[in-house]
Amino acid sequence: MKDHQPLRCICDKRSNLIIRPHFIFYSDFSPFLFLFISKINYMPETNELVVDQPIATLPSKGYAAMAVSEKLIPFNFKRRAPRPHDVLIEIRYCGICHSDLHFVRNDWGMSIYPIVPGHEIVGTVTQVGNHVKKYKVGDTVGIGCLVDSCRECDNCKNDLEQFCPGMVLTYSSYEKDSKTVTYGGYSNQIVCDENYVLKISDKLPLEKVAPLLCAGITTYSPLRHWKVESGQKVGVIGLGGLGHMAAKFAASFGAEVTVLSTSPSKEGDAKKLGAHKFVLTTDEDQVKRLAGYFNFILDTVSAPHDYNFYLNMLKNDGAMVCVGLPVVPAQVPSFTLVFQRRTLAGSLIGGIAETQEMLDYCAANNITCDVEVINIKDINTAFERMEKKDVKYRFVIDMATL
Ligand code: NAP
Ligand code: ZN
Ligand code: ZN
Repeated sequence: MKDHQPLRCICDKRSNLIIRPHFIFYSDFSPFLFLFISKINYMPETNELVVDQPIATLPSKGYAAMAVSEKLIPFNFKRRAPRPHDVLIEIRYCGICHSDLHFVRNDWGMSIYPIVPGHEIVGTVTQVGNHVKKYKVGDTVGIGCLVDSCRECDNCKNDLEQFCPGMVLTYSSYEKDSKTVTYGGYSNQIVCDENYVLKISDKLPLEKVAPLLCAGITTYSPLRHWKVESGQKVGVIGLGGLGHMAAKFAASFGAEVTVLSTSPSKEGDAKKLGAHKFVLTTDEDQVKRLAGYFNFILDTVSAPHDYNFYLNMLKNDGAMVCVGLPVVPAQVPSFTLVFQRRTLAGSLIGGIAETQEMLDYCAANNITCDVEVINIKDINTAFERMEKKDVKYRFVIDMATL
């Protein structure tokens, strides 16, 4: 499958149906048009839309964007009742990732509305299915960006569930029945198969742990895969949610860390987070000194930018790994790569086992995220501030405010 592009939703109020047309492009065939149909109910008393899911029976509440780029509003919906291998989790905190904003805006052409975003989830187990072995009621647990996968492909067998073609995202995705839409962590509770749930240590403050479930693993995984260690010079582009965790992990692995930022106001914080140097990328003189400087660069930028500008900062054999997902494709001249045998690569979150390894590493080394805890009513303001690079350095929703 090449592309999966949702079109405008059609709401038929007389029949209470939301009809979601999707074009699915296959590489060898013409586009197919699929119509996903869900039943909605309009509740005039509360001005809420309630969606009926095919096999969902557990009344739940959260905040959702009902259509592309709309503000998030209170939303009632149903989740599946826990099955024998499922746990039910009362959500206590959920981090706000820039991907949540990309999804609400349908930046990547794969959003399914209504969207309840949120994939940096921590909470408490309140119910377990008959066959659950790893968890019991009262355990502190987390859920990241994926809640299921095929479990049979080579990726699944090698702890790389994030690359499984059948991966089920925590929100704006279809469960394995291909009908039930997943809803994320800006909500009171979530149901998940125990194999996709993470153990969380009670040693660390829970609100500061939540963003590890995405920002943490997304930066830990490439730093480990490219074997970043002491003696190496590492550049981190963008000091936001991902960037601040990249700086902490790279410093903790012994590397010399330079934050490459467009925001002069973040210099003091970068040093407090563990960075050794801070370079304002709008200052030509500072940038000139970095030509051929780094062994490894992690690019966490959410907006379109010039990759070539940063690739020139790599030494021979250096690697720049993109985790940021801007909408506009980058232009990279072969010359920049060829002459210094440089590598340009990408990385996507991490598998379940590696996510657990990262959480255990953080508990053992007292590593947490720097967060601003917010009331869920302020979610739209948090999105606006994130868009303006005004994050310090992750917003986290206190779900007790829902
Ligand atoms: P964030 O908190 O908003 O941080 C992004 C930072 O990028 C900003 O704070 C800013 O830092 C910098 N930036 C923004 N616009 C820029 C521009 N035009 N030029 C240069 N720098 C700019 O976002 P996040 O949550 O860390 O996510 C970052 C990106 O990673 C998003 O695209 C997100 O979707 C993606 N992501 C990918 C994965 C994955 O698995 N690959 C996982 C999670 C998120 P300064 O102020 O320091 O310049
Ligand atoms: Zn994320
Ligand atoms: Zn698989």
